[in-house]
Amino acid sequence: MDRALPKYVALTFDDGPSAYTAYILDILKRYNIPATFFVVGSEVKKFLNLIRRIDTEKHVIGNHTWNHPDITTLSQNELWEEINSTNIQIRKIIVHSPNLFRPPYSSINDKTAADIGKFGMTSVLWNIDSQDWHEKSPFAIHQHIIKNLKNNNLIIMHDGDQYGSGPRDQTVTSLIKIIKYLIKNNYCFITVPEFHQLAYKIEKCS
Ligand SMILES: [Zn+2]
Repeated sequence: MDRALPKYVALTFDDGPSAYTAYILDILKRYNIPATFFVVGSEVKKFLNLIRRIDTEKHVIGNHTWNHPDITTLSQNELWEEINSTNIQIRKIIVHSPNLFRPPYSSINDKTAADIGKFGMTSVLWNIDSQDWHEKSPFAIHQHIIKNLKNNNLIIMHDGDQYGSGPRDQTVTSLIKIIKYLIKNNYCFITVPEFHQLAYKIEKCS
């Protein structure tokens, strides 16, 4: 039976916060599901209450730079500024700052990966792209995910409507259907730090 072999899903949301983030938080709350939000510093400034809410509702906040640049085009100092200014902004709101980092456009090379490590941050990519950044149909987003499911899944979606992703209605609509499918198929929802612990075996699964 499926239950004999635990299956895990870490949902991640990039480019926020935005007005759509509240809808996503409402859905996650309804199903009691934790997620990880990679936020953009310049957007954080506009939605302080959403950052507080993400933290209060036990989700994890990661750093997605201040301005969403391709970090492989930056000097080491510029990269530090992008990461540090975002961490400072988040710390002002929720007291602690992230140690997870997601590079915009998944653009990263050996040099930037080494620099990110030196800054004390852990780079996080994904193993399933929902493609919600260009798909306009909630059904297509759902299909991109379920066709690619494995035992351990780290899924990228977008709650932010800036940086090329456009309005996020299709993400919000597809999310409920995706969550229902994953619950029905006995997937356990975890955060990115818990995903990283999978190698050491996760004890809890709610
Ligand atoms: Zn992004």
